[in-house]
Amino acid sequence: MARLRFDILSLFPGVFDPFLHTSILRIAEEKQLAEYHLHDIRDYSEDKHKKVDARPYGGGPGMVLQCEPVVRAVEAVGAMGERSARTILLTPQGRRFHQKVAEELAEEDRILLLCGHYEGFDERIRKLLNFEELSIGDYVLSGGEAAAMVVVDAVVRLVPGVLGHEDSSSRESFAEGLLDYPQYTRPPMYRGMKVPEVLLGGNHREIEMWRLQEAEKRTYERRSDLCDDNTRDSE
Ligand code: SAM
Repeated sequence: MARLRFDILSLFPGVFDPFLHTSILRIAEEKQLAEYHLHDIRDYSEDKHKKVDARPYGGGPGMVLQCEPVVRAVEAVGAMGERSARTILLTPQGRRFHQKVAEELAEEDRILLLCGHYEGFDERIRKLLNFEELSIGDYVLSGGEAAAMVVVDAVVRLVPGVLGHEDSSSRESFAEGLLDYPQYTRPPMYRGMKVPEVLLGGNHREIEMWRLQEAEKRTYERRSDLCDDNTRDSE
C-alpha cells in the first residue's frame, strides 16, 4: 500500500492518465509512495443514459451537477480502501491553494478530490458532504480536472522520498517564503552571457551566500507580498 492514496472523482477521468503516469508522478507511483485511483461520476448515475446534470432551478445558463450521482459516488469511493480520506471539492469559491496547503496535504495518507463541471454543483452537495473547498486561483476553469492535477502534482513532489535529492523540494520557490535563486548549467558562456563566477569557483559557502542573496533580491523585486508571510492565507 502506497504512502499517499489519491481518489479523483470526475466526469472525464480519461484526461488524467498521461499526466499521472509521466515524470515525477510516475516515479512516486513506482516507488510506492503515491497511488492514483480514478472514478467516473457517471458510473454512479441511476439514469439509463448516465445523466448527471440538469437545468438550474430559477433559470439561467448551463447545467448543474445533481445531488444523487455525486453523493453516491463520493460515499462509495470514500468507503473503498482501509483509510479514511481528507475530502476536497475543487471550486473557484474555495480557500486559495498554495505551497503551505500543499505541505499540509503531503502529510495525509489519503486524499479524495471531487472535480466539478458545467455550472458546478447543486448546493445541497456542499451542505451534505461538508467538503473542504479549494481553489487554485481567481479564474474560472471549465472543470476541476486541471485543478486536481495541480493539487496532485504540487503535493506528491513534497512526499518524502519522491524527489531524488533530499533537499530538492525544501529549496524550491515558496518553501522558505522565498522565490528560488537563478539557476545555470552548461555551457559557461552563451551568446555573450557568462555564468556568475561564484558558481564556477567551487566554494560552497560563497555559493550558498550568493544563492540566498539572489533569492531574497528576486523575492523582493517580484513578490514583495511574500516577505510578509501573514498575508498568504488570507489571499
Ligand atoms: N459557476 C461556478 C462559479 O462561478 O463559481 C463555476 C463552475 S466551473 C465552470 C466548473 C468547475 O470547474 C467547478 O465546479 C470546479 O470544480 C472547477 N473549477 C473552475 N475553476 C476553478 C478554480 N479556480 N479552482 C478549482 N476548481 C475550479
